[in-house]
Amino acid sequence: MRRIVVVGASAAGLAAAETLRREGYDGTLTLVGDEPHAPYDRPPLSKQILSGEWGTQRLPLRPFADLDALDLDLRLGLAATGLDVTDRTVRLADGSAVPYEGLIVATGVRPRRLPGEGAHVLRTLDDALALRDRLKPGSRLVVVGAGFLGAEAAAVAWRLGCEVTLLEPAPVPLAHAVGAEVGRVLSQAHLDHGVKLRTGVTVTEVTEDGVRLADSEVVYGDEILVAAGSLPNTEWLAGSGLTVGDGVVCDQYCEAAQGVYAAGDVARWHNPLFGTAMRVEHRTNAAEQGMAAARNLLAAPEARKPFAPVPYFWSDQYDMKIQAYGYLRGHDEVALVDGDLAAGRFIAVYRNGEKLVGVLSVGMPPKAIRAWRQAIAAGTSWDEAVPAGKTSAGTTRAA
Ligand SMILES: Cc1cc2nc3c(=O)[nH]c(=O)nc-3n(C[C@H](O)[C@H](O)[C@H](O)COP(=O)(O)OP(=O)(O)OC[C@H]3O[C@@H](n4cnc5c(N)ncnc54)[C@H](O)[C@@H]3O)c2cc1C
Repeated sequence: MRRIVVVGASAAGLAAAETLRREGYDGTLTLVGDEPHAPYDRPPLSKQILSGEWGTQRLPLRPFADLDALDLDLRLGLAATGLDVTDRTVRLADGSAVPYEGLIVATGVRPRRLPGEGAHVLRTLDDALALRDRLKPGSRLVVVGAGFLGAEAAAVAWRLGCEVTLLEPAPVPLAHAVGAEVGRVLSQAHLDHGVKLRTGVTVTEVTEDGVRLADSEVVYGDEILVAAGSLPNTEWLAGSGLTVGDGVVCDQYCEAAQGVYAAGDVARWHNPLFGTAMRVEHRTNAAEQGMAAARNLLAAPEARKPFAPVPYFWSDQYDMKIQAYGYLRGHDEVALVDGDLAAGRFIAVYRNGEKLVGVLSVGMPPKAIRAWRQAIAAGTSWDEAVPAGKTSAGTTRAA
């Protein structure tokens, strides 16, 4: 193979490019990214960058010298606009077409927006800097969506002295992801810090001075942040023949079509460890999947390896460190196995069918949940992992 194109110059795309070189690929390697910046890290955007704790110089994923050493044909500030898998070319926004023998799609996701003008979103460095500039002590911030991103931004804005209102359509924030009881504990932190949390409210539009709810009430704010989920960046693949459905649909090797792989937030692949298709918006997964896709692209067909990770994510909110391994969505049962929910220091584990599928900890050292990660990776049954009577507070059904 002499020509490989990677589209998307962020965590997954960069990991793929580095892996290709590490594995000995020495042909042309084109990395296309529509942002003007060299690859940078996103998790700090809603944490250290928004709070002003870090300057932007800490964000790049690699120093320039390391990028140089990859000998890339680097096309930054340029979007891919089309793909032809028959001709094996990627079309770019400047009208050029780049031929490939191997392609890795790593175009990530973008924030969902609401009707109306003037709201912030938080996905890029530019988004984070624009919001940071507006968060002054006493200013009123309305955050739409109390998922992990909205919760982190609310916590930072509170620390900066803003008056924060957090609006969430679900009765319990994050219940669909972590279960109602854990969701309740996480959202209690907002109330404890004086952030106004309103659940069961649907925002229909952004207005000049706030947001309008479904019942026409206006919630006033100086700044609005919409943190209401995201959409995979797949429009440029329309008509390409790739299967797109909430992400680029791939097999267990992350292959979407012959010679075309996908990785990171945009990829929906079959994870054989959990026996299901998933799309994961987590930083660690993006890098690991970029590496896996690159290795499989270079490998002989029989030498390819299924991508079967135990997904990991973390979130920092107020003084809480939340960590989770596994696939918690759609779980059937949650059990508390260590600590105390009310004290905000605990480990909860998740069952799906007969299997242990996830673990989430708050305020625990990383090593406290590593054994659970291993048990998930080993496909341990629930009964073996969580013997009856071993839980701290019985088991509960998910919401
Ligand atoms: C504010 C914030 C906080 C986060 N915090 C955490 C956290 O605490 N823990 C955690 O696990 N995860 C966190 N995440 C998620 C994590 O950052 C993502 O999972 C990760 O960035 C995904 O990497 P990616 O390379 O797949 O996609 P992205 O980082 O989205 O990168 C895709 C790149 O492709 C570009 N692109 C899109 N379309 C095109 C096109 N047509 N042509 C060229 N380029 C294109 C995009 O502009 C972007 O630069 C956070 C994300 C955000 C935004």
